[in-house]
Amino acid sequence: MKIIKKVDEASKAVRKRKEKGKSVGFVPTMGALHEGHLSLIRRARSENGFVVVSIFVNPAQFGPKEDLKRYPKPVKNDISLCKKEGVDLIFYPEVKQMYPEGYKTYIEVKELSDLLCGKPRPGHFKGVATVVTKLFNIIQPDTAYFGQKDGQQAAVIKKMASDLNMPVKIKVMPIVREKDGLAMSSRNVYLSTKERKDAVVLFNSLNLAKVLIKNGQMNTDTIILRMKQLIGKKKSAKIDYIDIVDPNTLKRIPKIKGSCFIVLAVWIGKTRLIDNIIIRHA
Ligand code: AMP
Repeated sequence: MKIIKKVDEASKAVRKRKEKGKSVGFVPTMGALHEGHLSLIRRARSENGFVVVSIFVNPAQFGPKEDLKRYPKPVKNDISLCKKEGVDLIFYPEVKQMYPEGYKTYIEVKELSDLLCGKPRPGHFKGVATVVTKLFNIIQPDTAYFGQKDGQQAAVIKKMASDLNMPVKIKVMPIVREKDGLAMSSRNVYLSTKERKDAVVLFNSLNLAKVLIKNGQMNTDTIILRMKQLIGKKKSAKIDYIDIVDPNTLKRIPKIKGSCFIVLAVWIGKTRLIDNIIIRHA
């Protein structure tokens, strides 16, 4: 397994494998790898001749008051996990490599970037779209793998790849959860023991929504209210947003019909967690 920090060297290493006829699978990450990331890597490994993982905590997607500085960086462990999973190349650039002095170009996916997580985090998806575009240009993968955990991010990237005719296939993999249902996240390490217990309320509220729908509740306002009431029982929880939206447009739907995307962001103490499910209703 190679670890490359320089943009040109990474491009060259991938190009060589492509010339040998190997398909390239790519998993972009911010490191602090867990089973969620590993599920993407395993899928990439099973479908491609050459697998690239990038580890880059992208400053462009963090707001000024967000956790950029304290974001976990267990790099040695990340490297050994990648090795174990048979990754061929880790692209591990420094900020200066990705955003050299004088950097000026940004990618923006209108509308999708302004809803849900885009409201409390203005500029976040612009940062994501920009870094993913740069990584796609550097690595030139055949297929890139993303997690449904960041459902809005997946929607933004799929739209961007389609709108800009990017020659890459985007695959979105299911959410990997802890035993009690909490969605795995690099940020879960911030939680205290008590908060960790409380955090399962995100998953429980999604399950409540599922049960309500199964029992015939089709009014999204009512479902959201019931979810809010459940989460409100935890003292450490503060709801950022809960919404039920169309999975493509991310706009609120008044009644459950067809595919719907139930999404939420909740602060547990000082940690902001996100989760979602997609429900397909006949
Ligand atoms: P991150 O390092 O948080 O930027 O995540 C890198 C990729 O892993 C993104 O495509 C995430 O959606 C995905 N990912 C993170 N957590 C999970 C999870 N629990 N299950 C599945 N995919 C995940």
